[in-house]
This record gives sequence, C-alpha cells and structure tokens, in this order.
Amino acid sequence: MNSRRSFIKKSLAGAALLAFPLSGEAFFKKESTRIVILHTSDLHSRIDPFPKDHPHYPGKGGFAQRAAQIQKIRKENEHVLLFDSGDILQGTPYFNFYKGQPEFELMSRMGYDAATLGNHEFDNGLEALNQLLPHATFPFISANYHFENTALKGKISPWKIFQKGRVKIGVLGLGIDPKGLIADSNYRGMEWSNPLETGETTAAYLKQQGCHLVVALSHLGLQMDRGRYDDIQLAAHSTNIDLILGGHTHSFMERPLLTQNAAGKEIPILHSGQHGVQMGRLDFEFGSKAEESPYQLLNG
Ligand SMILES: [Zn+2]
Repeated sequence: MNSRRSFIKKSLAGAALLAFPLSGEAFFKKESTRIVILHTSDLHSRIDPFPKDHPHYPGKGGFAQRAAQIQKIRKENEHVLLFDSGDILQGTPYFNFYKGQPEFELMSRMGYDAATLGNHEFDNGLEALNQLLPHATFPFISANYHFENTALKGKISPWKIFQKGRVKIGVLGLGIDPKGLIADSNYRGMEWSNPLETGETTAAYLKQQGCHLVVALSHLGLQMDRGRYDDIQLAAHSTNIDLILGGHTHSFMERPLLTQNAAGKEIPILHSGQHGVQMGRLDFEFGSKAEESPYQLLNG
C-alpha cells in the first residue's frame, strides 16, 4: 500500500463523506483522467435529516445536506458519477403520504446518474412503480430483473455506458431474489435470473463494448445467509466486474472491502450504509491511454 494514501473521514454539514485525497504527484499526470464515483444506498425515504437528539445519527442525513456536498464535489471535479443501490423508498411518512414522488424528484435534481431497484421499490406494486418512474430523470437499471411481461416492459435497462473524457464506464444493476422478500402480487410477471451469472455475462459484454471500468450496482447485500447470493459471492464469481457498489444490508464501511475475484485479482466492494447518513466516494485515476494502462483506485 502506498504510505501517502491517507484516509480521511470528513464530516461536511453534518453528513459524513468518505474521502481519500491523495497528495502524491505521480498520479496527477496532465493526461490522466480522474473519475469520482459517489454512492448512496438504502435511503429509505429519509428526506429530512435525523433529529438533533437522535441517539445514533444526530442531525445527519437528509437530501439537502447531501445535495450541497454533491454540488461542491462537482465543482471541484470534472468527471463525477452519482449512483444509488436501491431501497430509495419506504421508511418515513413521506413515503406513506406521497408514495415516492418527492424522493425520485429530489434525486433527479441532485443529478443522480443511475440507480438499481431495491426490494422496497416494489412495496406498492409494479403498477405504482410504473407510475412513479416518470418522476425520475435518471435511469433505473437491472440486468437480472426481467419485465417483459409487466407494465414496466422496456422501461428498465440492464446496463448503461457513461463516457467521461476518454474513459468509458459500464454500469449494470443486480437485484435480490424477490421470493420471500416482496409480496408475490407486487412483482407478478417479473422474472428473476441468477445475479452471479447474469452479472458476469453482462459485465463481459460491457468489456467487449470497450468499457474501461465495469461497475455493478447491487442490491444483493454484502453477506447473506439462507442461501441467498451476495456481493462477496458476486466478486468471487466474476472476472469482468471491477467495482461493486452494494446495498440492502445497510452496511457502513470506513473504506472499500477488497476481495478476490475469480481471476485472483482484488476488486473493491463499497457499501454506504443507510438513510443517507454517509455518502461513499471512490476516486479512480486512469492513465493517459486508458486502453493500455489500467486504472488505479486512489482510495482503496
Ligand atoms: Zn433491501
């Protein structure tokens, strides 16, 4: 590990941010491209911050504080991508009264680039989700939820490619097995496929499309029991996924977990807790020729 790497847990406007600035000069060659990836998960309709006397998260979270953080980071960096790993909905009276519309609209205004579907996005059923989707200007992506026989047909893409400078970033979504988690009537007609296999096939396809970095937005959970697939297994099964941004287990991490993929290479898994209390940030630096020189994770 590079000793100059420093890990700083910043607290901006009451919300924690994982930031890892690198003071070294070698990585800042003129021709290199820095990509900043921001991540939230399991926001659970937490639009307002927690109360000041909250025992665990006093004054933390809230969409407005996060919006200010994101705005600042965008001002400081040319290439920023903002993702969410699902379970945007359910958890506060906002959802009970307004059914998710403010969450989707505010995230659109914050400039989210993509999100994947968590199990709670189905809490009011597929038809309600279908009504809600137009309030999001960002795409929901899922490679292993298949909606051909539902009202959502054609509205959820398996993946999306983002071009940032010279760098192509492929993003795919992976959802948890709905059985036993979502009421049957709330996802009727939707097919689910094995996320490990679908994830790897989709990631391989994105690499074929020339993506320099393939990101899995996962709502599988970091580590699951009772036979459910999880992010650790996803990493171990894959050779083409470079980064897993996970959710569902509400796991707080101080830094990404580096775990071996199927080729024996270490790849990062990052979870960003819950309720917007913390926003994850990873900075990648790509060499002058992204095709030839691989990226470097600056804050691993
Ligand atoms: Zn969940």
